[in-house]
Amino acid sequence: MSHTDPTSPAPPGPGAPTTHDVLNPATEEVVATVPATTPEEVDAAVRRAADAQRSWAAVAPGDRARLLRRFADVIDEHVEELARLEVAEAGHPIGNARWEAGNARDLFAYAAGGVERLTGRQIPVAGGWNITRQEPMGVVAVIAPWNFPMPIASWGAAPALAAGNAVLLKPAETTPLTALRLAELGLAAGLPEGLFQVLPGAGPVAGNALVEHEGVAKVVFTGSTAVGKQIMAKCATTVKRLTLELGGKSPNIVFADADLAKAAAAAPGSFLDNTGQDCCARSRILVQREVYDRFLELLEPAVRAWRAGDPADPGTDMGPLISAAQRERVRSYVPDDARVAIRGEAPAGKGFWYPATVLEGRPEDRVAVEEVFGPVAVVLPFADEAEAVRLANTGTYGLSGSLWTRDVGRALRVSGAVAAGNLSVNSHSSVRYWTPFGGYKQSGLGRELGPDALAAFTETKNVFISTEEDDQ
Ligand code: NAD
Repeated sequence: MSHTDPTSPAPPGPGAPTTHDVLNPATEEVVATVPATTPEEVDAAVRRAADAQRSWAAVAPGDRARLLRRFADVIDEHVEELARLEVAEAGHPIGNARWEAGNARDLFAYAAGGVERLTGRQIPVAGGWNITRQEPMGVVAVIAPWNFPMPIASWGAAPALAAGNAVLLKPAETTPLTALRLAELGLAAGLPEGLFQVLPGAGPVAGNALVEHEGVAKVVFTGSTAVGKQIMAKCATTVKRLTLELGGKSPNIVFADADLAKAAAAAPGSFLDNTGQDCCARSRILVQREVYDRFLELLEPAVRAWRAGDPADPGTDMGPLISAAQRERVRSYVPDDARVAIRGEAPAGKGFWYPATVLEGRPEDRVAVEEVFGPVAVVLPFADEAEAVRLANTGTYGLSGSLWTRDVGRALRVSGAVAAGNLSVNSHSSVRYWTPFGGYKQSGLGRELGPDALAAFTETKNVFISTEEDDQ
């Protein structure tokens, strides 16, 4: 494959790695080598982005929207190519990867539709007129993780560009290829030079340089809570605008009155999809005690039906983990004395494979409290609705959750009581680009997606215009 580095990197400083190898996690083969952006290159990229942004903000809204729609069309023409890059760098099953490329396309098309609707307000006042304007912030840094490289990059980049900003995207070290290709496709679609640049490289180097740069007005960070806190502290020094999408430990609450067959059939997808490397993974399965055994009986064949294997095979449900380090981390949550209720199969040999695993445990177990980010769930029994809500609200995260019940009143009561940003009833689906997404507690700050996505990349300016004839 070929990929142009839009930053045209200058020689890096002494001792710093100049390139990153990108591994195929299913085979451990090097699929590409990409430049590691230095702080000096970040500085040059910010300056170019600031120049491009000034012109972009002056483009008529209809023309800005048209360009972004064209970008969506160009992505659409390259869905298969982007999906295959995703398979190679992230090991995602090809069907999932096609969905991810399509999601990036949809994000740009949706954001384009918001350009002309980014309106201000006229607010009644005495002695004049009062109007508000939504103004772009300037240069936005989007720092993305490796688990859904294309969607998450686009969640930030598309609305930021649509609102009149420039975007500097720092992809994860392990998954820069689709991001670099998206930047090329943006140029091919006619986006101005410098407006949407991709800066691959190390988080503490390229990512940190963006966070610290005074020319960056806003940071959108998606990643671990630990790094998110560091970035938040740095942004505080200059009150830099910030959106954080962080970790999760989401509950899947199954009440005794639920359609158990449906709940059990859906559960594997909620913690095995993307090999569990999903911030919304429902990896704590809370089951009402009287149906606990029955639920596990139903869950077992559903988990075993998930096929782990070659990501390029359209019949594959689950690929490898992203890296050897991630597999070690996942293993550490399944100690030798763990009570394994269900264990699936995974390929042997090369690749960072780990089998689907369901544990029985206690609420205080590490695996029931911490984000695993792998295909491992723990099942915990509960007595009644109050205990279910208490368990669901235990811990520092509050990103997502599901509940299964046929009682509408209970569905609404529990949805109101669980402290999480994205809940689903009799479903595990909680992320749509046209509905808001984000976390409570230490799962995040601010919201992405949905009808207000563009506004999050603007400052509101209030202007009062006096109508008094003799007002000085
Ligand atoms: P990570 O925090 O290690 O890295 C995320 C990004 O930040 C990468 O691009 C990395 O290079 C960069 N980075 C690392 N250190 C940095 C620093 N000091 N300064 C600036 N940038 C830095 O996370 P990850 O392992 O790539 O992703 C997994 C995590 O992301 C999980 O915790 C997951 O829950 C979370 N996540 C959250 C959401 C959400 O929407 N809430 C979505 C996906 C993933």
